[in-house]
Amino acid sequence: MGLTSSYTSSPVGRLIVSAGPDLASLDRWIREFARVIEVHQGFLTELDSAIGDADHGTNMRRGMSAVVTSLDAAAARSESPETALAMFKSVGMTLVSTVGGASGPLYGTFFLRMATASGDVVAMSATEFATVLQAGLAGIVQRGKPEAGDKTMYDSLLPACTALDASLAAGLDLDQALTAASAAADAGRDATTSMQAHKGRASYLGERSIGHQDPGATSAALLVAAAVTAFRQPE
Ligand code: ADP
Ligand code: MG
Repeated sequence: MGLTSSYTSSPVGRLIVSAGPDLASLDRWIREFARVIEVHQGFLTELDSAIGDADHGTNMRRGMSAVVTSLDAAAARSESPETALAMFKSVGMTLVSTVGGASGPLYGTFFLRMATASGDVVAMSATEFATVLQAGLAGIVQRGKPEAGDKTMYDSLLPACTALDASLAAGLDLDQALTAASAAADAGRDATTSMQAHKGRASYLGERSIGHQDPGATSAALLVAAAVTAFRQPE
């Protein structure tokens, strides 16, 4: 995937490439996600205690803390991932092996699919990043078979990816487009409260799942918000 492979037309008709994340930005994204998961782990577990088995915050904290430990250990050996593929792959493998339950394989697949879609690059354009996210989302769909309205992480990730694509197509830069995506993820997360769960443990509750915010949709909204923060921050 090359930097020149995606273009948008500028108002004056010239072709421009909207800049996307480089490896340092992706590293910051992963670490920022780990940080916000740590901050919100109690809340995530509280949400899961209402409609699940009270472990989503613990699961995600265990996984993302292992991810950061692994990135730090690699850096100490001067073996930090040198491509987006290697970085996302390491995150995905760590999540699959350390997070149990439904969310481990789902988040793991998300990152592993983003790895394959990224390829051996050290930077990508904004539209390439949006394509990479769509590939991750497709992995979640393949793995968990969620549909819109099932009250899962998909209900915040799908609107986020849709908003990101639409915003980039409308000519916004990555920061503006991700800000729109994050707002869409938050709205999608909030909309899960009135939904009845049709996937995962919460579905066992039937109608009693209505009235509670979905934990996975909540952590997924944190993932999108983390990208806004991380990609904006100077190195
Ligand atoms: P578990 O339910 O196994 O305890 P977690 O509590 O860590 O796992 O994660 C629960 C979250 O996983 C749910 O809130 C939901 O968002 C997500 N989830 C569960 N099943 C699916 C599925 N089939 N597809 C997409 N997301 C799912
Ligand atoms: Mg759970």
